[in-house]
Amino acid sequence: MPLRRARAIVLRTYRVGESDKIAVFYTVEHGKIRGMAKAARRPRSRFGSSLEVGTEVDLVFFEKPSRELVSVDRCDIVRTRFSRLGEPVLATTLGYLSDLVDALTPERDPNQRIYRLLRATIGSLDEPQLAETRARYFEVWLLRLSGLFPLRRTCPSCGRALRETGARYLTEEHRLECGDCLGRGLPLSRETVDFLEAVVWRTPPGETLEPESDTVLSELGVVSHRILQEHLDKELRSHRVFEDMLRRTKP
Ligand SMILES: [Zn+2]
Repeated sequence: MPLRRARAIVLRTYRVGESDKIAVFYTVEHGKIRGMAKAARRPRSRFGSSLEVGTEVDLVFFEKPSRELVSVDRCDIVRTRFSRLGEPVLATTLGYLSDLVDALTPERDPNQRIYRLLRATIGSLDEPQLAETRARYFEVWLLRLSGLFPLRRTCPSCGRALRETGARYLTEEHRLECGDCLGRGLPLSRETVDFLEAVVWRTPPGETLEPESDTVLSELGVVSHRILQEHLDKELRSHRVFEDMLRRTKP
């Protein structure tokens, strides 16, 4: 059984059996992998708090031929935000973003930009009042890196700049056009098109942006949610929990 190493972020864990856990990791080297952590739920387990969601670790594992599940040997903490992320709004946001990566990424398909996006966004979860901005930014970037959000700067039908016209997005046809050319679909204001331009053309994934207006946040929320529903064919429970939390905590 070959021993392998990877730099990883813990996406989620499941309890199995009496005392074990299965952990889902997003790694730089292998993309998403699942690993069995034996005895991880025993008191004084050798894994300590290294399997908390959002923790960045140096992972050492064994791979068995023809088995999807790897066997976790060691997990050394590189960076933990455990103390900060005990705050309920940030914990809920982190749970949703990790779940989203798990839901949208295939196993063993490494994408360093997704890793960097996740790492930087976790690092930027500091102030509960910015959680929605961080999450909307993350959704748009992750959808884009997953090839699910075809962003563009000009209307494909009339060639005008979408920053001048605003836009509409039609989920089932994955079309983004100006409002004059596309009569239906979700309306996106010029302000939101501006934000999307900034995301796509001017900032690397994970760069921290300023808080956005309520219009931009709510339009982005609706369009990302529509794309996710279309692609996943189900509602993520963590998404519902996140949206409920936003509604409860908004002034
Ligand atoms: Zn047009």
